[in-house]
Amino acid sequence: MLTHVPRAPETTATADIRIPDGLKPADGRFGSGPSKVRQAQVEALAQAAPTYLGTSHRQKAVKSVVARLRAGLSELFSLPDGYEVVLGNGGTTCFWDIATFGLIERRSQHLSFGEFSSKFAAAAKAAPHLADPWIIESATGTHPEAVADPDIDLYALTHNETSTGVAMAINRPPGAASPADGGGLVAVDATSGAGGMRVDPAQFDAYYFAPQKCFASDGGLWVALLSPAGLDRVEKLAASDRWVPAFFDLKTCVDNSKLDQTYNTPALATVLLFTEQVEWMLAGGGLEWTAGRCDRSAEILYTWAEQSDFAMPFVEKPSERSHVVGTIDFVEAVDAAAVAAVLRANGIVDTEPYRKLGRNQLRIAMFPAIDPEDVAALCGCINYVVGALAQ
Ligand SMILES: *Cc1c(COP(=O)(O)O)cnc(C)c1O
Repeated sequence: MLTHVPRAPETTATADIRIPDGLKPADGRFGSGPSKVRQAQVEALAQAAPTYLGTSHRQKAVKSVVARLRAGLSELFSLPDGYEVVLGNGGTTCFWDIATFGLIERRSQHLSFGEFSSKFAAAAKAAPHLADPWIIESATGTHPEAVADPDIDLYALTHNETSTGVAMAINRPPGAASPADGGGLVAVDATSGAGGMRVDPAQFDAYYFAPQKCFASDGGLWVALLSPAGLDRVEKLAASDRWVPAFFDLKTCVDNSKLDQTYNTPALATVLLFTEQVEWMLAGGGLEWTAGRCDRSAEILYTWAEQSDFAMPFVEKPSERSHVVGTIDFVEAVDAAAVAAVLRANGIVDTEPYRKLGRNQLRIAMFPAIDPEDVAALCGCINYVVGALAQ
């Protein structure tokens, strides 16, 4: 019988730190995806379950929720007439492959400034039916600018680079012809920005994302908001002789979405959680309200870091600092991994940095579901833990 389990001496100090309850945030989830799901969404799902979960996605019970989702997103993003809300299975990573088949005609340009943006560039580079992409990089913690060029038929931007906490405003490249006049499309990976950052639909042709970040749902789906020029490109490539695997066929996805369906079976729980979050955003006041909430959280986090003598915002330029995913560097004397471990032991989870960035930092999501008050409480908890670790 085990009467005494010895602990490793080096973990004793951190494991013993107990953050006082009065300092703790009401909700301890600060992960950048999957991210905090509001309990009210889960309750709405439980309530809908008997006539929704376990029913056919080709029938009204489910199709009406998909219709609510599509209408809600259209309203949230103030989509002009002619835009379509398209969705399918496989998450954003799948959509990159779909885009290499169904959106890029010959040659794309990619702003590559972190793990996620570099992955789409790599997918385009690997596609044998496309010319080598033009990849523009910048130093970690910054973002590059797109360069208008008549040879480019798709500019790949990223609204928020989740791996580094760098955000960029979405604008067509200065000097680029509009797609109606033969200029390249603008396609934006907005996986972690959509729903928490302002965007003008006139500036994009494809704005794509997944629901496990600002939309506080689960992963596995992708959504793409397509402009009329984006939809024209889909039609043009579908009519060409390019071979496209059925699962990556964007035209099939567009056709199914117009019928409030997906090509194959979606996770119904995810669809409902997602819809509930979109409607919560609209009830609060829409995108301006959610973005304002994220602005408030970001101001709390970055002001705290700037005033701290052991922490500082990783992204130097305030204009490039994300308001949805904050990255905070620590001085060498403070081990961020130890801080994250103590927070985790106290129920405050997923503040660890993006693994491949390899910095002494914490990464903190500030998505709309996350209460700015909880971000403030988290800052207080970090102060407490750093103080306790120094004892
Ligand atoms: C999370 C994330 C992805 C990956 O999304 P999946 O749905 O897991 O494929 C891609 N791009 C960005 C910017 C992200 O934040």
